[in-house]
Amino acid sequence: MNRSFVRVFAGLVSLLLTLSVVAKTEVSGVRAVAKADSTRLVLELNQTPTFRKFHLTSPNRLVLDLQDTSTQLPSSLFNLDDPRINNVRAARRGNGVRLVFDLADDFPSKAFTLEGPARLVVDLLGAQAVTAQPTANTDVAPAAPAAPAAPVVTPSGPPRDIIVAIDPGHGGKDPGALGRGGVREKDVVLKISQRLKAEFDRTPGFKGVLTRTGDTFIPLGKRPQIARDQNADFFVSMHADSFPKDSRVYGGGVYALSLRGATSETARWLAKRENAVDLSHGVDLGDVEADIRRVLLNMSMDSAIRISKQAGTQVIGEMKGVGRMHRRQLEQANFVVLRSPDIPSLLIELGFLSNDQDVARLTNTAEQKKIAAAIRRGIVRYFENAPPPNTQLYLDTRGTPTAPAAPAALEYKVQRGDTLSAIASRNGISLSALRQANQLSGDSIRVGQKLLIPRS
Ligand SMILES: [Zn+2]
Repeated sequence: MNRSFVRVFAGLVSLLLTLSVVAKTEVSGVRAVAKADSTRLVLELNQTPTFRKFHLTSPNRLVLDLQDTSTQLPSSLFNLDDPRINNVRAARRGNGVRLVFDLADDFPSKAFTLEGPARLVVDLLGAQAVTAQPTANTDVAPAAPAAPAAPVVTPSGPPRDIIVAIDPGHGGKDPGALGRGGVREKDVVLKISQRLKAEFDRTPGFKGVLTRTGDTFIPLGKRPQIARDQNADFFVSMHADSFPKDSRVYGGGVYALSLRGATSETARWLAKRENAVDLSHGVDLGDVEADIRRVLLNMSMDSAIRISKQAGTQVIGEMKGVGRMHRRQLEQANFVVLRSPDIPSLLIELGFLSNDQDVARLTNTAEQKKIAAAIRRGIVRYFENAPPPNTQLYLDTRGTPTAPAAPAALEYKVQRGDTLSAIASRNGISLSALRQANQLSGDSIRVGQKLLIPRS
């Protein structure tokens, strides 16, 4: 190559590099306006986007792939309050982003872009979904997605127990967090997991199974597989924290999986740490991106997350009653161990092994039993509200196995600092579903008010 060519070529490369840095599209705002015959969805952008739009059915979804687009998305995207849109999810796709809108019906759509300022407009066409039967129970929002998380169970055979898989974190060559007085996370969580299993085994209609019964190392990816092999209805991974830099930090936390990213710095930090433990042992976690992409379009995953969140809210409520919590609200983080497409899952951090009081509590037999009982109560409470068909609990709470599931709603007491949209998001339901279930027209709620959280 001659020199001038090289210079031109180098110039081109740097120009392209500059362009590719500058060219990232950003979504700055999202709004939806519903009319009787259509919903207009408007994405405000810094430049006209390159996009692809398509629909998926069962359940009905609208998918928008935005190329070269930042994954920093405005929160308004996830708080759309529209009768035609039940839920919105997003994930990185290549160097862009994929937005998935769960629709209340199979609305056809038209999409076009506008300039100055740049906008992407999608019109969802068709009258909005109406309640299927006017005689149906009216305390459940009509537009919520229908698919249950539990696989369809064949109605034959005797009623079965609800199986809760309990996953004591770490083990074997991986001690987990190391705490005061030589306490190791792997030992503490195994002990409490065994007590939790005993709690479930004592509860009629439930059975506990453990992913490890001894001091053995099991890769993260294998743990949900063990649960699946046992036909688990629920998966709970047990951990303890350590924060040696500040031994005053204390308390437990309850985490559900999030595909949107972590809800707080703590959740982000934890996910990084708990995931890294396994990575450092050279376990192949596969293509995480591809994995997320695959499950993103999987309704059962979405439903599993919703169930996880609702059960998690019950568990954290019970845990608050028996001990100190570091985080008083359910958090969401992207934990590898929870990334199971079909089993609702929670990760529980029992406390900080770097804190003397927490160590005393977590190693004391009576306290361990109290903690295990609280976790069991939270999970059982969730299932009592929403028993899977063909289970003993379903029979006990619903009568006959063929009776249609009564609409289940959980009760939640409004706490200081709560907003209606935060409560909806924590429970994985839309703001409009929450409003509808409680016959609220606006957003105002008061501390102590009891809200019905529709299950689906
Ligand atoms: Zn851990």
